[in-house]
Amino acid sequence: MSLLQIEDLQVSYRRAGHPDVMAVAGADLSVAPGEIVGLVGETGCGKSTLARACLGLLRPSGGTVHFDGAPVTPLGRRPRPAAQRRLQMIFQDPFASLNSRRRVGAQIGDALRLNPSPTTVGEWLTRVGLPESAAGRYPHEFSGGQRQRIAIARALAAQPSLIVADEPIAALDASAQAQIANLLVDLARSEGVSLLFISHDLAIVRQIADRTAVMYLGRVVETGPTAELWDTPAHPYSSALIGAVPRPDGLHRLPDELPGDVPDPASPPPGCRFHPRCPVAFDRCATEDPPAITWQDRTVRCLLHTEGEPLHAIN
Ligand code: SF4
Ligand code: MG
Repeated sequence: MSLLQIEDLQVSYRRAGHPDVMAVAGADLSVAPGEIVGLVGETGCGKSTLARACLGLLRPSGGTVHFDGAPVTPLGRRPRPAAQRRLQMIFQDPFASLNSRRRVGAQIGDALRLNPSPTTVGEWLTRVGLPESAAGRYPHEFSGGQRQRIAIARALAAQPSLIVADEPIAALDASAQAQIANLLVDLARSEGVSLLFISHDLAIVRQIADRTAVMYLGRVVETGPTAELWDTPAHPYSSALIGAVPRPDGLHRLPDELPGDVPDPASPPPGCRFHPRCPVAFDRCATEDPPAITWQDRTVRCLLHTEGEPLHAIN
């Protein structure tokens, strides 16, 4: 049973005088209880839009998002179903999760009141590596890394069953990135909280995620257990991304080593959306939209694979 189930999700943005942009164009993704799923892809592929739709912050134009068996209700409709209090978010900018005018302790206290828990504000601050005295201070009095620790404490204090973390380390110094990612993952594991960890930092995702989902131009093009997907990527885009990660593993951003730029989501290529950049594209790729092919616990959208046959690595 999935805790989060996204099926054929579509989210469009209107632009005055221009065609709508379909930022998420039929994406499928699931997160199981206690699972850590890494969602990777280049800037502009729709990762953040997908995250916001999961939380009800954006209204989908098609498809469904279910959380804990019930459809996610778009924000603004009151009262918010109680189940959705079990869904928390951590943003790239900690100020997006924190209120700059309220003391840290009061904000964690608000989160504690969402769902009953014996843990105190001081205990949460300690668990994220901050002194209890931080409770009396304001978010701007802390460094970026410390603010993200506060955002993690606030999210976990609400006793969520799922945290969606959108680029939670991207704005931090290199030295703080691994620390904050590990803190979030360790606490999620010890609390049994599922995590959808969205990042363009493949090395981090490889380290922390049970399962990886690769997104390209509004679609999830491959999913699978992280180690397997890394060893035998079945989608040429996954293969290109993975090949672009320098080894031994360090904190590397996604380099611009793929040919061409990400196409404009307002006018996606016909056929397979990756075909203009795909090193192994063939004639059908320009006209046929690849369906999702599933084999065991892997799913891929590429015409090189056939339903009912084992997936093979594309290197
Ligand atoms: Fe490349 Fe064709 Fe597969 Fe698309 S369907 S990823 S263009 S081989
Ligand atoms: Mg983003």
